[in-house]
Amino acid sequence: MRTKIVAGNWKMNKNAQETRLLLNDLIETLPHTVEAQIIVAPTFVNLAAATQFVEHTNIVVAAQNMHHAEHGAYTGEISADMLQSIGVNTVILGHSERRAYFGETDAQLALKVTTALAHHMQVIFCFGEELKDRQNNQHFEVVSHQLHKGLFHIPADAWENIILAYEPVWAIGTGETASPEQAQEMHEFIRATIRKHYGDAVAESVSILYGGSVKPDNALEIFSKPDVDGGLIGGAALKASDFVAIVNGM
Ligand code: PGA
Repeated sequence: MRTKIVAGNWKMNKNAQETRLLLNDLIETLPHTVEAQIIVAPTFVNLAAATQFVEHTNIVVAAQNMHHAEHGAYTGEISADMLQSIGVNTVILGHSERRAYFGETDAQLALKVTTALAHHMQVIFCFGEELKDRQNNQHFEVVSHQLHKGLFHIPADAWENIILAYEPVWAIGTGETASPEQAQEMHEFIRATIRKHYGDAVAESVSILYGGSVKPDNALEIFSKPDVDGGLIGGAALKASDFVAIVNGM
């Protein structure tokens, strides 16, 4: 059985007070018996408070990014050791906004993945095609390339710390979701690509999340697909009632 996961990527939203309020609402309203792993990713400055706030709950706090270097002259950056020193052991890497607005390349992501794994951190590795790729019928090729260049350098036993998040760029924050069939088709392809490279055991055990305009009213249908193991939620993770409704759809 693969782990079901619902992760909230808060992006550049919620100041310190708002972070506490949202966490408090989540703690009060999330179902206690949910089988899914719940992850939330507030901004860097609120991570320390967030880890303390959720200490006695089963909510996991993740960072939205980190640098690959251990330390040094990288003004404005955050290292794996810094995250772990405040109790953060999960990190989102390769989000399409990092790739598009901050120029993160597959090669840089490969380095970040290596560093995170060296620290025994859990990685939520994001990837997905742009609209033009899908229109040109190159979406499978693009996704395969992102996986090979950013992730497939890791050894098979490191996959236990990897969560995949397929996020078609055209569906992120646009209100346009991939249809459940499109999501399933791509997730099946991703699992087959992993199987080819790493074999059955890795392919069958890795959780593949879907991300891109997941809302309470479409989550259930997307999550019901056999190769979709949960979601990475942006906009709808900013309101406790929406996020909880999505979790309840698992
Ligand atoms: P969205 O964002 O749910 O607002 O589309 C998803 C994401 O970027 O992870």
